[in-house]
Amino acid sequence: MSIKENLLKIKASLPEGVTLVAVSKTKSPEEIMQAYEAGHRVFGENKIQEMTQKWEALPKDIVWHMIGHVQRNKVKYMAEYVSLIHGVDSLRLLKEIDKQAKKHARTIDCLLQVHIAEEDTKFGLSEQELEEMVSSETFLDMQNVRIKGLMGMATFTDDENQIRKEFKYLKSLYIGLKAKLDGIDTLSMGMSGDYQIAIEEGSTMVRIGSSIFGARN
Ligand SMILES: *Cc1c(COP(=O)(O)O)cnc(C)c1O
Repeated sequence: MSIKENLLKIKASLPEGVTLVAVSKTKSPEEIMQAYEAGHRVFGENKIQEMTQKWEALPKDIVWHMIGHVQRNKVKYMAEYVSLIHGVDSLRLLKEIDKQAKKHARTIDCLLQVHIAEEDTKFGLSEQELEEMVSSETFLDMQNVRIKGLMGMATFTDDENQIRKEFKYLKSLYIGLKAKLDGIDTLSMGMSGDYQIAIEEGSTMVRIGSSIFGARN
């Protein structure tokens, strides 16, 4: 199937209220344009440099999400245009995003990434770190970032129960955050292999790459 066919099929299968982020990392501008021409506008990348090159080259009504791990010294390259940063996992990083957003006289939407997988290779805050972060004064003082919700990645496994358990856990933290902060409306969970489970567990935003664009090298 073509990129367009994959995209339209997935879009048609998503319930109302679930946003699709088409993960275009490693894919060419031409491949992204096939999804664009099929009407899609929200794309996710995991490297700031690659995303910035694509932002420069492609139509300006594309909405760019940074879904990967963010190095503080590179925030400045995307501060002008990035629409949502999914992987915020420290107060130091959030402070840098706040500072760079201010330079561009804008507010940048962010998700806090929580570590929900068993693997220790995946980034993210623990429940306790999340709690401490959203209670700290520095956090509450920041004017140019807006926390919209949480993001998490489940363990890479065939064990559906394990994946479901991890998504349920993230959902419970999301409900807790909603009770604590205003404006929380985004729960980013689910990728090509597990997005159906994620939706059943309350995801409002899925990040899908290979099921749209094909396998990456
Ligand atoms: C690559 C990536 C995805 C998409 O993965 P697929 O399995 O290709 O759908 C989703 N989220 C993050 C954080 C990623 O890095």
